[in-house]
Amino acid sequence: MVGKAKILVFLSVFLLFASGRWLNLFIFNNVSFSLSVQWSIFYGMLIAFIFYFVADLVMARGLLNIKIRIIIIISFYMIAVLFVNRLLSIEEERMFIFESILTVILLFVLLGIDFVFEQKEDFLFNKTNNLPLRYTRAQPLKTFLESVFRLLPNPEPIGLYKIGKPNKNSLVIVTGNYDLTVRRVVKHLKDIDCWLLVCDSRGVNIWCSSLADHFNTDKVINAIKLLKLGEKVGYRKLLLPQLCASNVSPKKIKNETGFTCDFGPVYIKNLKKYLLDPKNRQIRRVTFNLGERLEMSFATIVIPSIFLFFIFNFIGLKNLFIILPAIYGLSFVNAAVFPYRLVKNIRLWAIFFGFIVFLFNFLIFTVIFKLNFLIYNITISIAMVYLVNEFEGWSPLVKFNLFSSYDKVRIKIEENICIGCERCVEVCPKGVYEIINRKSKVVALKECASCKSCFYQCPVGAIKHSADINNCAF
Ligand code: SF4
Ligand code: SF4
Repeated sequence: MVGKAKILVFLSVFLLFASGRWLNLFIFNNVSFSLSVQWSIFYGMLIAFIFYFVADLVMARGLLNIKIRIIIIISFYMIAVLFVNRLLSIEEERMFIFESILTVILLFVLLGIDFVFEQKEDFLFNKTNNLPLRYTRAQPLKTFLESVFRLLPNPEPIGLYKIGKPNKNSLVIVTGNYDLTVRRVVKHLKDIDCWLLVCDSRGVNIWCSSLADHFNTDKVINAIKLLKLGEKVGYRKLLLPQLCASNVSPKKIKNETGFTCDFGPVYIKNLKKYLLDPKNRQIRRVTFNLGERLEMSFATIVIPSIFLFFIFNFIGLKNLFIILPAIYGLSFVNAAVFPYRLVKNIRLWAIFFGFIVFLFNFLIFTVIFKLNFLIYNITISIAMVYLVNEFEGWSPLVKFNLFSSYDKVRIKIEENICIGCERCVEVCPKGVYEIINRKSKVVALKECASCKSCFYQCPVGAIKHSADINNCAF
């Protein structure tokens, strides 16, 4: 099924790109028919293969490390070919034949590797307890690239690492195997003597991988068994990341391994506050500060940029140099003003923002400077409506706010069942619940992000939630 989906991705991208390139070269630029067809096939294949492997990466399927390397190989190959074609004046016809043969060989070798190892669920496993140097070194470029391309996984080996000088009674902190996550966790643990258990989350961050079922109870149990955690520590307690509460069952972990689990703070930087006062509610909330908003706006532009790349493939790629900087700039404006926006409803705000952008561009470029800017203006405005609308909702599940029932959340608490254990208050990252008179109450329904943690963790099944597809009372 997934194999067919990937072939479909390959064929669609190939046909879209090839037809666009052909139209562009043959009709608009008057290039000879045979040359434009060769260009179409050549670049269409390369781009389609990149998408073929990216599709697998987004779904975080097997052989992640190999696929990341394959994408890098094809990208460098494309750049090298462009470089050779542009800078060396070799006769074009002969060059095309040579490049086409080379491309076909390269791509079919890569495709063969993919088919042979298709089903392999790979992960690397680090047997030593010593923390690799790459987790402690500052790597600003890598951090920047991982933030921008956060939709793609970057897996690290599963491992159990010593942080400081832990002993048998030291705390065990659990995290996923996304490179950026591991490095950030290590950075904030440097003054604490503890163990760090890195579990398989398919190279994706904890919240997204839990929602997409890449990180779950079995992955934690597997890591405990694989790394023989029980033989290394005497203190049988794990500190799980709060944002995995939607998909990790402490009860099952206890039954299968003997380890009890607590949920730590949302952000590892608040670990010391948590250790001083585990009931501190402030450290259990997801924030969306300026830094996070700017990071998010950078990351969300990647997908629209790819779509624009396809559209402008038909009408001239150089136009993207005008449109993309405008979209990036406006996305940062949205990130900066987002908490202070006049219109609170996200969909209305997206339409309002897009309309203001259109009006502004129309007045400045069309009315005052009399430039032919209408097509750019329409593209930028539509892209902004989409980006602003999706600004809060990115995950591997790609929650399209435009079509989701995001604002129709309903929650009902069966008060006669609720035992007031506070688990829902503890795991909710949006502060939706409070305990009043030893019963849980919904105090901020509008904040709910449908993350599924509360009803999944409630020990007595007292929460009925519209996001619970197995047990929804509404
Ligand atoms: S109330 Fe909403 S945001 Fe809070 S835990 Fe439940 S589903 Fe998640
Ligand atoms: S988790 Fe369930 S039982 Fe515990 S306080 Fe919340 S609703 Fe009540």
